[in-house]
Amino acid sequence: MSAPLTILKDLVSIPSVNPMGRDVSGPEYFETRVTEYLLQYLKRLDVPFEQVEIAPGRSNVLARLDSPGATKTVLLDAHQDTVPVDGMTIPPFEPVEQNGRLYGRGSCDVKGGMAAMLAAFTRLAKERPAGMSNVVLSLTCDEEATSIGINHLTDSWSEPVPPYRLCPTRPDAAIVAEPTQLDIVVAHRGATRWKLHTAGRACHSSRPEEGINAIYRMAKVVLALEEFAAKLPTQRPAHPLCGPATLSVGRIDGGSSVNIVPDHCHIEVDRRLIPGEDRFGVIDELADYLRSKLDFEVTHEAPYCASPSLGDDLNGALSEQLMRVITSVVGPRKAVGVPYGTHASRFAREGIAAVVFGPGDIAQAHTKDEWIEIAQLDHAAEIYYRFCAGG
Ligand SMILES: [Zn+2]
Repeated sequence: MSAPLTILKDLVSIPSVNPMGRDVSGPEYFETRVTEYLLQYLKRLDVPFEQVEIAPGRSNVLARLDSPGATKTVLLDAHQDTVPVDGMTIPPFEPVEQNGRLYGRGSCDVKGGMAAMLAAFTRLAKERPAGMSNVVLSLTCDEEATSIGINHLTDSWSEPVPPYRLCPTRPDAAIVAEPTQLDIVVAHRGATRWKLHTAGRACHSSRPEEGINAIYRMAKVVLALEEFAAKLPTQRPAHPLCGPATLSVGRIDGGSSVNIVPDHCHIEVDRRLIPGEDRFGVIDELADYLRSKLDFEVTHEAPYCASPSLGDDLNGALSEQLMRVITSVVGPRKAVGVPYGTHASRFAREGIAAVVFGPGDIAQAHTKDEWIEIAQLDHAAEIYYRFCAGG
């Protein structure tokens, strides 16, 4: 059995389910036990490593290899958590090998990528190839929900006393593991989600003329948003790799009883950002638009999700270098844009060249019978190794 597959089987058999905001408990939730496995693994490998706890039971784990004379530091990032296992049709935590695939929760997203990175890091630690970059392995928590792990790491570089001993300053390049089928993701969209409120004046529904109906007001807001969304493609040309900027109203809630004129209504808006758009600026833009269309106040809450997009303006050289390595292992692949978000945009926000690259297909991520192709796992490990070894 190959080294990446052995590690992947271990990782799949240790649950690290992200509760995704639900009030649940049990040994399968949170990253604690996978974190413990990683710490033991790195201890055996005899390399410098550290654990930084972000919230109870939720830690980032970093390890580092320094190469004499290296001028560049490459960071490899993979997240420790998986999505929940509700409705799965296979045993989620019993890794099963069948027809060249490994089944189990996280096999594709993204314990496969993590296993490939760990296997590459292990080889680098043992072989120390001449010409190797400095390598930081960053195994982060909470990617699937609120990104506290990656935000803690990337925000730390602006702090006067950085909390990470092994990565106190910004690396030169970052490769983020997500299932890309060995293609390179050089751009992706971001998302801003927030709540909008309308207020009214409540009164008995038998005399509606004495009140102000917050639902009627929100109806006008929603129609204005539909119009705004329809105009977006003409006002903002689609990104060649990521497609168009979009807006969608996904939830509405208002009123308390049918016989009361409602004094409150709120909606939730999902705004997908293309590279170049500001994740907070889009709220101001929409607020200005509504102000110009409506004669009443609309309140905008601070966003509960503001995930930046990834542009391809910083990562050209990194992508080309990685593509040369990929080609040497599996033949040429593509540099692509995708609609989903990743940790890479957090690195890019810090001015770091960042791409997404890993084994597995996003089509199998989060599914009821999640699996990964084992051949891709081994290829990814070889590619991470050769890239860090100097190409
Ligand atoms: Zn993932």
